[in-house]
Amino acid sequence: MKINTLIVGAEQLLTFDEYAGRVPLHGHKMRDIGLVEKGAVAISGNDIVAYGETHELLSVLEIDGETRIIDAKGKIVTPGLVDSHTHPVFTGTREAEFAMRIEGKSYMEIAAAGGGILNTAKRTRETTREQMAHNADRYLEWMLGFGVTSAEAKSGYGLDLETELAMLQAIRYLAQTGKLDLVPTFLGAHEIPAEFRPDRADEFVDVVCEEMIPKVAELELAKFCDVFCEEGVFDIDQTRKICIRAKEFGMGIKLHADEIQPMGGTELGVELGATSVDHMIEVSPRGIEMIAGSNTVATLLPGTSLFLNKGKFAPARDLIDAGAIVALATDFNPGSSPTANLPLIMSLACVAMRMTPEEVWSATTINAAFAVGLGEKIGSISAGKQADVVIWDVPDYRQVPYFYGINLVDTVIKNGRIAHRK
Ligand SMILES: [Zn+2]
Repeated sequence: MKINTLIVGAEQLLTFDEYAGRVPLHGHKMRDIGLVEKGAVAISGNDIVAYGETHELLSVLEIDGETRIIDAKGKIVTPGLVDSHTHPVFTGTREAEFAMRIEGKSYMEIAAAGGGILNTAKRTRETTREQMAHNADRYLEWMLGFGVTSAEAKSGYGLDLETELAMLQAIRYLAQTGKLDLVPTFLGAHEIPAEFRPDRADEFVDVVCEEMIPKVAELELAKFCDVFCEEGVFDIDQTRKICIRAKEFGMGIKLHADEIQPMGGTELGVELGATSVDHMIEVSPRGIEMIAGSNTVATLLPGTSLFLNKGKFAPARDLIDAGAIVALATDFNPGSSPTANLPLIMSLACVAMRMTPEEVWSATTINAAFAVGLGEKIGSISAGKQADVVIWDVPDYRQVPYFYGINLVDTVIKNGRIAHRK
């Protein structure tokens, strides 16, 4: 076998291969980072073919003059990060809303001045598919620069069939460029659109179920369907109806749940066999118990708590201690979390949610891969997995969340090729 790239001499190699990289890590297993000191990783074509201690690997591999050797002395090597909850396709930024919120303006004043999901939807509806892709490509470039090699990407700023399809087609186009692996999620039920207000939400749910979901499925534009299950948005019955319909068409389920009010969205997600339930700031004790006993990933988004200054974070410690599979993501979006910096989210999770450095690494690699249904392909340094690997310019993995807000990425290898270098 021809080795194209060989990374050698890493102070620490985090593999997440303790269980062959084929299962998500529940609860305290999230501390099993699969650490190899003085580690090496061998890549052939698009795949990881072997890893181990450098001197051992060098003694068994056949290397010729064409093998690219990367010296990672003084550095650490990890799987590419997976950002498992993002909204990267939208038109118009919302810094005016940000400034108004700081000054204590009301929700109505902010909406009138161009804030809120509906205002982003209004502008996104006026945007061509090509322009949508062009705008989002900039944000994907940011993600890659922070060590993210795969991301989930949601629609949800169209809220009508035509624009939702255009958003998903933009995501498909971006996925085909190969910059990042993108997992498309249909989020037609992100908000009740203006034309169905104030009292026709059920009719909109019917449009989502009878027009949007069948068309999205026919065009094979989404792997998952997501719903914003929240007071004043979609209630439990409406959310259940949309999810059951999406499952009939073969889509996996993700939910925005229990972010502002404890609605029972987490419980519903587990009942429906959702791949992930996301946010969970207000999850009930019953919800914690249910998700801990399931294979549904609890995806926590502490950036939103910070940026909206909620003063409250999801109960990560309770979830992990109960045995849940926890993932972390940026929730990158123009309103409540405009950051693509997933390592910063790791820092925030350590400080504000008391997750350990080991747990935040698991939550952004192997568990995040399972949160987007790609656990068999990415998320660990395992023989046979796609060669998405990041070299960080620090000698200890704990320094990545410790030096918070600093970009410590040295080199990003995507699909076996160098995609980004400091
Ligand atoms: Zn979101």
